[in-house]
Amino acid sequence: MTIEHTHDQQCQEHNHAGSEHKRQHGKGMTCPVCGTISEGVAHERSMGKVGIAVAGGFFIVNSYILGWLLPEQTFAASFSAIIGAVALAFPIVFTAIKDLVKGQVYMNELVALAILAAMVGGDFRTAGIIAFFLLATIIIESRTASGAQRSIEELVKLTPNTARKIVDGREVEVQALELKVGDIISVRPGENFPVDGRVLKGESAVNQASITGESLPLDKAVGDDVFAGTQNLTGQIEMEVTKIGEDTTLGKVKDMILAAESSRTPIVRIIDRYAGYYTPTILMLAVVTWSFTQSMERVITLMVIACPCAIVLATPTAVVAAVAAAARLGIFIKNISHLELAAKIRAFIFDKTGTLTDGILSVTKLNPIAGMSPAELLKLAASAEVHSNHPTAVALQKLAEEAGVKLDKTGSAKEEHGKGVEVTIDGKTIRVGRAGWLEKMGLEVGKHHDDESHGMSVVYVASDDKVVGWIGLKDKIRNETGQILSDLKTLGIKHCAMVTGDRESVAKTIASGIQIDEYRAECLPEDKVEYVEKVKTSSRVAVVGDGVNDAPALAAGDLGIAMGAIGSDIAVNSASIALMTNDLRRVPMLIFLSRKMRTIINQNLFVGMIFVLGGMILAVFGELGPVAAAVLHTLSTLLIIFNSARLVRVGEELTLEESRTAQD
Ligand code: ADP
Ligand code: MG
Repeated sequence: MTIEHTHDQQCQEHNHAGSEHKRQHGKGMTCPVCGTISEGVAHERSMGKVGIAVAGGFFIVNSYILGWLLPEQTFAASFSAIIGAVALAFPIVFTAIKDLVKGQVYMNELVALAILAAMVGGDFRTAGIIAFFLLATIIIESRTASGAQRSIEELVKLTPNTARKIVDGREVEVQALELKVGDIISVRPGENFPVDGRVLKGESAVNQASITGESLPLDKAVGDDVFAGTQNLTGQIEMEVTKIGEDTTLGKVKDMILAAESSRTPIVRIIDRYAGYYTPTILMLAVVTWSFTQSMERVITLMVIACPCAIVLATPTAVVAAVAAAARLGIFIKNISHLELAAKIRAFIFDKTGTLTDGILSVTKLNPIAGMSPAELLKLAASAEVHSNHPTAVALQKLAEEAGVKLDKTGSAKEEHGKGVEVTIDGKTIRVGRAGWLEKMGLEVGKHHDDESHGMSVVYVASDDKVVGWIGLKDKIRNETGQILSDLKTLGIKHCAMVTGDRESVAKTIASGIQIDEYRAECLPEDKVEYVEKVKTSSRVAVVGDGVNDAPALAAGDLGIAMGAIGSDIAVNSASIALMTNDLRRVPMLIFLSRKMRTIINQNLFVGMIFVLGGMILAVFGELGPVAAAVLHTLSTLLIIFNSARLVRVGEELTLEESRTAQD
């Protein structure tokens, strides 16, 4: 009757939300009940219901036609109505009885009773029409209502069913479901990747829009990660399978949508809790109505209109649509409560490097001490950074590679997040990091003139106990930073701040270029946390960072948003919301989506209650007939489905704009 029906009752043993579901069904298998894979059983079931609805509807219409053509022969018309009514009522009554046996008294009983009552009263046409409309509602719900089914089917379509596995140097076609981690497969241009993997051979441009929402193709070469459901555009690639089924990024998106389907707002939780009382209450009301009016019609109408499908659908339809919209934009939401929370955020704290700036540092100065060449300094620093993926490390590696500097072999390595790295090379302890960190270890950093390094991020390089030079680096503010900060202000965000481990002079330069209310420089990771806690005392705060070394700050915020999270489990684990791309425009979009979702849920609940309560009053006073009640019931459900579907379009302009720039 409602989502309860297709979800809780049939899939009761199949907790959709994530791990439980996975445990029950294993990887990449089809859930026999919810049919999350395209050729699922649910689909066939709903096809069966369509069949019943069409056939039953035919007999009811036939009964009217017969009654009109052969007015004297009432038997033929009645007989047709009886067949139609019984056929249409069967699935509804059957479910109601199944519920009763399980001890669940919910809404199905009401409608089943209404239909049976009409039948007992000899009004098979009315019984048939009521059953027809309720069946139609169930069908609409199971196909579009929650929308989850369809969104999932769309996701499933993104991955091919077969793959070309390389066995003994030859390509063998296998089922994608049979692939295992470690297998080597070949993917041709134009094909989608069936699983997550790492490129072993070849290079190609890849369109990752299906999971990042960004249609700009990316170049992939040996060693790069590729993701299930994304499209290989230009070159043939040989890849090693790293993740399959539910573990792939696409698989996680699927879990996210399934979790959305079972989400509840407080009011629905209340309905759930008191559902057991709801039916008896309505039945009592029916008895009272009967005793005052002796009108069976009013009682039937009451029971039909009291079925609160619309109210129960109000939340999950909106949440699924919002989550689907988010998924399309490359916004991954781990827990639906976080999506609800986003609407209430009043303050934002951004990390600087890699968040407000593009995090692509370039080395602007190599400043070794006397007796050492810049190339030697670079070699030492780049060798030490081999194990790190901090923007500083990436910049040093890149320059070393461009300059053709051959790196030293390193021994044990250790990274202190937000401070620096420490490795051993040829028995020497090499440290690369911030001044304060080295000073704390008793090293003499030695002051240089600020003019030399103005506006640059600086890391110092030390060999054993001696600082052997410093390196200046620079990155630039992201193109969209200014825009999104003003967008957030427009959305009513009161406080936007920046925290950074970088030097005061750099922070100041950046902050003066953008509209930021407050900044904190030279922060250690724990200082960032402390600042977050402070802001948290006065307003709900979201922290935006790059996930890897900002994990503590992300976790400290009411909401933690990790950027550039594609393929990074760490980011997804430490944050409540992960943006697959580095595009900051997703941040205001998320807030907007969350607010819009809340509005739509409220509208839905309001409309649902008006229909149910208003309908009940009209029914009791005999102003509404049973057929009209059935039609209204279907209408209210449709209204809610369409209202929620509006959410799917949120952010469409953003993706459109991107694909336009991609084409230029
Ligand atoms: P931000 O807050 O700007 O993102 P981080 O907290 O990541 O900066 O780092 C703060 C400072 O610590 C950097 O500016 C750099 O000086 C130093 N640092 C952190 N990690 C590394 C590393 N892997 N190599 C060298 N220096 C590092
Ligand atoms: Mg950072």
